Amino acid sequence: MRRTITRRDLVRAGAAVGLVASVPGKLFGQAPAVVVRKAKPLVIASPNGFYFTNGGAQTCVEKAFLMITQGGDVLDALIEGVNIVELDPLEDAVGYGGLPNADGVVQLDSCCMHGPKKRAGGVAALEGVRTPSRVARAVMDTTDHHLLVGKGAQTFARSMGFAIEDDLNTERSRTLWLEWKRRTDPLHYLDPAKRELASRQVSQQMVREGLMSGRHLYGTINCSGINAKGQICGVTTTSGLAWKIPGRVGDSPILGAGLYVDNEVGAAGSTGRGEANLYGLCSFLIVELMRGGMHPKDAGMEALRRIKANTIEKRLCRADGNPSFNLSFYILNAKGEYAGVALYREDEDERGAVGQKDGRLVRYCVCTESGPQMLVCEPLLPGLPQG
Ligand code: ASP
Repeated sequence: MRRTITRRDLVRAGAAVGLVASVPGKLFGQAPAVVVRKAKPLVIASPNGFYFTNGGAQTCVEKAFLMITQGGDVLDALIEGVNIVELDPLEDAVGYGGLPNADGVVQLDSCCMHGPKKRAGGVAALEGVRTPSRVARAVMDTTDHHLLVGKGAQTFARSMGFAIEDDLNTERSRTLWLEWKRRTDPLHYLDPAKRELASRQVSQQMVREGLMSGRHLYGTINCSGINAKGQICGVTTTSGLAWKIPGRVGDSPILGAGLYVDNEVGAAGSTGRGEANLYGLCSFLIVELMRGGMHPKDAGMEALRRIKANTIEKRLCRADGNPSFNLSFYILNAKGEYAGVALYREDEDERGAVGQKDGRLVRYCVCTESGPQMLVCEPLLPGLPQG
């Protein structure tokens, strides 16, 4: 049965941090072995960091927060956290069971960034490994490169000892793909524009029929954290856009787009329509705006305004000219201030996923010394992306 983080766990974790903070500056004439507390530990994530447990006791943010407060490396903690979501077959937007591409093949993207080490690693269009975040970490730790893709990423993973599976589909993801395929037989839509339109319409119809959550057409987990020493790391991992053209890579594994960390400033990461985020490299933009003194919320809102201004293609706009998709950013700064922001206040997607009456509100989650919490994102625009 699921065991949520208890108040006692957190008081214990908080007490440990408090103890560190109260160590006197000099101990027997030597510098103390511990660093005085610079920040309140915090983990922030997309909403799936709050509700998937892979049949275990903890969610992503709970696991990561406890590991951080117990002194673990921040990136190790975040990756252990997102592994819960990657491995959970019920989350069909991340890792194992993520919705496949147009050929029915699950291709995964991830990147991670270690603030104090100023290193990062990523993989894209990786097939056969349930936890792409771990492979991204191995790219960071053991190579001189940032990003490995496709077959090369898989060969690298194999050489690092990762188990390679033939197929990461679950019965559910395969059934949904077959249904999508049945409805969009591309032979009938040789014109690429018509095919793209048909694909969107079919997916939206499948959401309306309750076959799948709209949240999972897109869908990703981004998770960032800061420890008491002020060390900041982040990770993003996804199966990307459902039914994508094989080889399509979104924003998630791209540094500056799906994730960016600067240990002196803060971290930002995204979920939602990757193509719109890529044009503005908005995670980098947000961190740079925070460097200039902006609060996480203001920096996030400025990035959303840029995305809105850059969205001029008719096919991507509603009748009123506003974007017809959603995008969220999860942001924290070196002071431990944080924000979740979204283009739209609501999404079809969120309904039911959180099991709340106002489940349409776009959310994010955090874990602090007071426990895990689901919070509502600050929106740029009211209503739903679909109008
Ligand atoms: N941003 C991801 C992508 O475009 C998907 C998502 O987060 O919804 O691949």
